[in-house]
Formats: sequence, structure tokens, C-alpha cells
Amino acid sequence: MKKIVIIGAGPVGLACANWILHKQPNAHLHLYDRLSESDEVITQGDSRGLAVSQGSHLLLKTIHAWPNISMPIHTIHISHRGHFGRAVVRKEELHQDALGHIIRYADIHLSLRHSLKQWLGKAPHFHWHFNQALNELNHDLLGDVIIHAEGGLFKQQDWQEIYRDYEQSAIVGWVKMDGENHHMAWERFTDEGPLALLPNHQGAEYLNLVWCGNPETTERRLKLDEKSFLNELQESFGSRAGQFIAAGELRSYELGLNARKKIIDKNEVWIGNAAQTMHPVAGQGLNLGLRDAHTLADLLTEESDVALALSKYEKARKKDRQATIGTTDFLARVFTSKLKPVIWSRGIALSSLQLLSPIKQSITRQMMFGQR
Ligand SMILES: Cc1cc2nc3c(=O)[nH]c(=O)nc-3n(C[C@H](O)[C@H](O)[C@H](O)COP(=O)(O)OP(=O)(O)OC[C@H]3O[C@@H](n4cnc5c(N)ncnc54)[C@H](O)[C@@H]3O)c2cc1C
Repeated sequence: MKKIVIIGAGPVGLACANWILHKQPNAHLHLYDRLSESDEVITQGDSRGLAVSQGSHLLLKTIHAWPNISMPIHTIHISHRGHFGRAVVRKEELHQDALGHIIRYADIHLSLRHSLKQWLGKAPHFHWHFNQALNELNHDLLGDVIIHAEGGLFKQQDWQEIYRDYEQSAIVGWVKMDGENHHMAWERFTDEGPLALLPNHQGAEYLNLVWCGNPETTERRLKLDEKSFLNELQESFGSRAGQFIAAGELRSYELGLNARKKIIDKNEVWIGNAAQTMHPVAGQGLNLGLRDAHTLADLLTEESDVALALSKYEKARKKDRQATIGTTDFLARVFTSKLKPVIWSRGIALSSLQLLSPIKQSITRQMMFGQR
């Protein structure tokens, strides 16, 4: 039986390992995890809220990896600060229980870890190598298939292929409002970039903040005292969601696009952020990565010939990758442009979206389930 090696035990690597064992408990699988066996670092780590689609929800449930804490989104309100045009999407229009869910990075990382740990001792050929950051590879010795799931953030990756620097960074954290916002996701396009307010696990008075702007403005804002920060945020977002009264756990991330042209090379394959890192404007990075992991697990367990499995994988992922990367790049460029004609046309686009229900539904479906 072929030996499968996964490098990187972030959400995508863990999900891939889970799906492989779920389908083939006898698989010869080696997972290289930079972290130790203890969950402590993860628990205290990245608390950024991620928008996880309904499609990912269904996929994660198949391996019992849906986190205990998740906040469903019932309505998405998209608007454009200082210009006409808005669109509202409701779960009822799409006949879904939710349009998506907000989950903290740490929570999804942990739930995937816990579900995979159940295979230890049960799957006879599964080896989880903790405290091991695998960098130098002797590919022939290592395994028959090497799955790269090392992930990473924009500008921190040591490779660059399809690369676009939007000269944007985002402040991420939580804000407290003077009233309640139940299951609402607000996406507001400002002249500096997108500003999103998403449900937060602390309750209906709290929202997750993702505030994009140019890197200098972002760094300046992070140094403001709380009152000045909230004033600037209120000025930028407006008062649709209420008054901002507190903020916390603020930190910044650089944003951009870095995607591989080729996702397979001989016996190596790249998935998740190791294959594509995107702007979070459409909340698609993890969702796309989970679909990568699921398809790859399917093909590797169904096909005995590795080369055939990988070439089928490359083909199977082409449409979804292109559509998701393309849509995200388009939105990031359009909604960060300062050109007047682009600003006018995005207002028209938002209004038309509201009027043209089938188009709105088809875009939302692509974001919720990917391209099939
Ligand atoms: C501000 C922001 C907001 C976002 N919002 C959303 C959102 O709303 N929705 C969404 O779907 N996505 C969102 N994303 C994207 C999402 O975070 C990523 O797509 C997702 O984390 C990718 O998971 P991954 O497992 O591929 O990579 P990572 O999360 O980077 O995990 C990779 C893992 O591999 C380990 N590793 C690295 N190198 C090695 C090595 N050599 N050996 C062993 N281990 C190694 C790392 O330590 C890490 O644990 C957002 C991103 C940002 C920055």
C-alpha cells in the first residue's frame, strides 16, 4: 500500500488526514506537525473569526469535526459607504438553515485535532509526528505521495507565483456594540477597502471585526487609544449596526494573493494555503482548502496509481480554484480601487445584485459550496 505523507497539521492538513483515514483506516499515513501533542498553544493562539461556508459545515460533520462553538449567519448586508447601492442576502432565499458560520481559527484547529486523535491506536499505520517541522525533503525516501499543507500567510511564504499585493492589511479583533445584532454579517465597502462585522461567540452585543486599509493606516490605527480607535471605526462604518463601545484582541494581517500555477509535481501535491493564499474579502481561503483536502482524500483512497490520482486531482480542482481565486481577486481589486468609474460601477453592481435575484443566488451559492 502507498505511503502518504502530509506536511503541516493546520486545519487543511488535519482535515485531509481525517478524510483519508475515514475512507481507508488501513492507510499508511504520516502527518508532520510542527506543534507538540498538547493543545495548549492552539487554545491560547489565533482567535480570529473565520467565515465557514455551509458546504464546509457539511463536509466537517462527516468527520465529527464541527466545533462546539460556532455562530450561524442568517443575513448578510452588503453596502458601500458614502455611495448608493446595497444588497441583502437572507438564508430563506436560499432555503438554507444558515448562510455560513463564524468559527474561531483556534476552535476549528482544535476540533479537527480532536477528531484525528481518535484514530491514534485505531488506525494501525497512522503516525503523527509531533514537534516536527519538515523542511528538507528526500522525496524518494519520504513517501509515495507528499501532500504539502504548510499553509502560511501572505508575504510570509517563501514562494511567489500568481502574486498580487493589494497594499492592504486588516485589523482583526472583536468589538462591542450598544445593542444586539443577531446572526447578522455586515460587509461594508469603504474607500479604503472592505470592513466586515461578523457574529462573535461572546454574544449578540459582540461582533468580529475585519477592517481592511492600507498598511500605514492600519498600523496607525492599532496605536490609537480605544476611544479614538472606536471613533474612527464609527466614522468609517457608519451607524447601521449601532454604536461601537469597546474593542479588544486587535492585531493586523497583511493581505494579498499568492497562488500556485501548478499544484502537482511528480509525487508532490499542494493544498490549502500552501496552494493559494487569498484576500479575506470573500472569506474563502479555508473553505477552498477544505474542498482541496476532501477531493484529494477521495482520489488517493480510490485510485491505487498515485500519478493517476494526482492528475485526476489537478483536473478536478481546476474549475473551483479558478472561480474562487478569480472572484476573490476581482472583489479585492474592485473594492480597493480609488478610480471614480470603478467606484460608480460597484454601486451599480450592488444595486443590480439586489434586483437580480438569480445572479445574487448563484454568486452566493458559489461562495457557499464552491464550483462543482
Ligand atoms: C485576516 C484573515 C481572515 C481570514 N478569514 C477567512 C474567512 O473568513 N474564511 C475562510 O475560509 N478563510 C479565511 N482566511 C484564510 C484562512 O485562515 C486560511 O485559508 C486557512 O487557515 C488555511 O489553512 P491551512 O491549514 O492551509 O494553513 P495554516 O492555517 O497556515 O496551517 C498550516 C500549518 O502547517 C504548519 N507548518 C508550516 N510549515 C511546516 C513544516 N515545514 N513542517 C510541519 N508543519 C508546518 C504550520 O505551523 C500550521 O500549523 C482568513 C485569513 C486571514 C489572514
